[in-house]
Amino acid sequence: MDGKIVNIAKAIKTKTIERRRDFHRYAEAAWTEFRTAAIVADTLEQLGYCVLTGDEVIEAEAMMGVPSLEELEHHMKRALAQNGKLSWIEKMKGGKTGVVGVIRFAKPGPVVALRFDMDANDLLEAEDDQHRPYREKFTSVNKGTMHACGHDGHTAIGLAIAEIISMLAEDLAGTIKLIFQPGEEGVRGAKAMVAKGVVDDVDYIIGMHLGTELGKTGKFAYGVDGFLATTKMDASFAGVAAHAGSDPEVGKNALLAAANAIINLHAISRHSQGDSRINVGVMHGGTGRNVIPANALIKFETRGSSTEINEYMQQQAIRVIEAAASMYGVTVSMNLMGSAAGGKSDFQLAERIQKVAKRLEIFTEIVKITSVGGSEDYTYFMERVQRRGGQGIATLVGATLAACHHNSYFDFDEDALELATTVLTSSAVELLTEKLK
Ligand SMILES: [Zn+2]
Repeated sequence: MDGKIVNIAKAIKTKTIERRRDFHRYAEAAWTEFRTAAIVADTLEQLGYCVLTGDEVIEAEAMMGVPSLEELEHHMKRALAQNGKLSWIEKMKGGKTGVVGVIRFAKPGPVVALRFDMDANDLLEAEDDQHRPYREKFTSVNKGTMHACGHDGHTAIGLAIAEIISMLAEDLAGTIKLIFQPGEEGVRGAKAMVAKGVVDDVDYIIGMHLGTELGKTGKFAYGVDGFLATTKMDASFAGVAAHAGSDPEVGKNALLAAANAIINLHAISRHSQGDSRINVGVMHGGTGRNVIPANALIKFETRGSSTEINEYMQQQAIRVIEAAASMYGVTVSMNLMGSAAGGKSDFQLAERIQKVAKRLEIFTEIVKITSVGGSEDYTYFMERVQRRGGQGIATLVGATLAACHHNSYFDFDEDALELATTVLTSSAVELLTEKLK
């Protein structure tokens, strides 16, 4: 079936590129992917998939870093104005923009899931001739939101795979689940889909990212390891304002509490069992030179080479922050803004997918990357599947990049779309035919 897949992926390449460019033009950030998700849902339905969205795939309580109701409302209206279909968007109220497409094939077999993320970055896109999306007129019309990580490509690849799999349905056994996730940026979305049980019946799961450190088009990494578990939090300190000259003793200094917290967060003792990180990236506080500052906000993140080490860092951070608040007699409230698990690809599945990639003869180099050192919330899906006895891997498809990820000149070689479509479809088909062999 490999030859057939290669040919169809090639035949629909132009459509895949057009889709990628359309998603790029109408970039939507985390939890506001109303138009993108509506197109995904509609396309899947037309291809014969059973489509789940909104409350069916998102657990509201596990959503992290969700924009305000006003922002959500604004982005829903924008999606409708940009030809998003009302019947789908209505189901996604509250930012529940996840979509899952399912086909149960006639013959019994494993449940195979592929996961794609759909969101863009909060970034102003470059608008000059150096930048191909500008030259070829598909820069983001949603100012301040830009696909600078390739998730526009991921979404287009997911739909291309959906199309090929639907064409091959007669020859497959088991169930295919195509998962389109909102809010990967800031690691906010996966947890809510996992909490809803989206992968609770899954035997095999494959995730993919375009570009990254893998470099140029033609490379493929089949078993990525070393994802860092991470937690993103905001801490708001609240004290009492007072005249700094006449009544300083009446005040409670929230800014000093925050400042002391920052120093001591960076002094958390390191863990002997693996790598850990902490960073306070933002601090705001105070209102005026002669006022004892009554408020302060810090935004920080912890990371760890395993979920356990990250949990250790997070617990220590909470302890330090509460202690700093107590020292200055102020109160503090903390909000979880995002998180991801640690992650390791399964060796056995990785080896099977490596063989598929070799057999296709479409890649110039096939590698196993052992340590990425970043975070990606796909790990929640992978971890859940693994804990329930299934297997999961993360893969990378190389794409020559115009600039690094999250840069306003980011763009990737669109030939990688066809390569990713081919290898992921063949990998899914390999697993969906194992009972037939
Ligand atoms: Zn990304």
